[in-house]
Amino acid sequence: MEPQKMDILSLLPEQLEAEIKAMGAPRFRAKQIFHQLHVKRVFDFTKMTELSKQFQAELNSRFYINMPKIEQKLASCVDDTVKYLYRLSDGSCIETVRMVYHHGITACISTQVGCKMGCSFCASAPLGFIRNLTPAEMLGQIYGADADFPEGQQISGVVLMGIGEPLDNYDNVMQFLKLLSCKEGRNLSLRHVALSTCGLVPRIRQLADEQLPLTLSVSLHAATDAKRSALMPVNRRYPLDELLGACGDYFRKTGRRVTFEYAVIAGENDSAAAAKELGKRLRPVFPNQRPHINLIPVNPVAGTGFRAGHAAAFQKLLEQEGLNATVRRTLGDDIKAACGQLRRDTIESTGKESVVSSSESVSGL
Ligand code: SAH
Repeated sequence: MEPQKMDILSLLPEQLEAEIKAMGAPRFRAKQIFHQLHVKRVFDFTKMTELSKQFQAELNSRFYINMPKIEQKLASCVDDTVKYLYRLSDGSCIETVRMVYHHGITACISTQVGCKMGCSFCASAPLGFIRNLTPAEMLGQIYGADADFPEGQQISGVVLMGIGEPLDNYDNVMQFLKLLSCKEGRNLSLRHVALSTCGLVPRIRQLADEQLPLTLSVSLHAATDAKRSALMPVNRRYPLDELLGACGDYFRKTGRRVTFEYAVIAGENDSAAAAKELGKRLRPVFPNQRPHINLIPVNPVAGTGFRAGHAAAFQKLLEQEGLNATVRRTLGDDIKAACGQLRRDTIESTGKESVVSSSESVSGL
């Protein structure tokens, strides 16, 4: 990273325009540069041939282009899933997964290097938190995967469900969403974006005020405070009543129902009593709407001792409780497409990334 220079890929069109104007260049230059970066995907000022050599040099002295580099790519043999390990300019690494569904191609992107939330079943938790990703580093995960495939096989949907807690990197995530959806750039509708959170209540309330057409997804994983606090430390800070209250308010404010994620863990959260409790808790959250739960058999992570529960059986129990439940297909099983596992293996085998701060915990939020 070059801190004295500005991260040009993180700037919105109007922000770039202000910077270019300050350099004494005409407005249309900013438009040209934005187009070169975000549409033509030219990540080298000297290759922007419509600009004079002198102006290219000036840009180079003021800005840097922060594109993450694909260090490793794993393609699944069992389906079309591809997983990328990106190396960032400071040596950190993150993961992105590209998944093919019948309705299009979805990228699952990371929002932080590591995570502070400490969920007990998650591969990223023991590695701690290093830093937030910049808007450019989130966008770069999509541009890198786009470039890896021909036109027509471009990413049409994005889920913020990779490494990190998106609402703990709120401002950068909002700036990324603006860049992703801006018509001068990637022009991807936020209707095709899902943001997943472990349940940072004040940020859910802030997000409701933004009135974005994205889908908010809450990682629930348990229906009682005792169980949820044991699985997810964030629940001690924002217990279920507060969380579900915020989900209901989100729906009232935006007209958009929140969906829930539920990792089915054998003997932990998959009993008939758990299904009953979930029904009791969730039915009142969105009046006149059936709550929707995505079930995913937990991905066993070394050291956690958790085993996948029977998702289809739990789905039946939830439907009897008046909830809509779907079982998420597990993709790319053979390439560790489950979030965080490739990065974890890379760090453990090469020691190439050291955690600088694992002491920040949820309770400090
Ligand atoms: N921090 C955000 C988004 C990243 S995690 C969140 O908590 O929602 C994306 C999803 O994967 C979350 O629902 C998370 O709880 C889930 N997850 C993490 N580890 C998992 C595992 N081992 N098996 C199944 N789901 C897991």
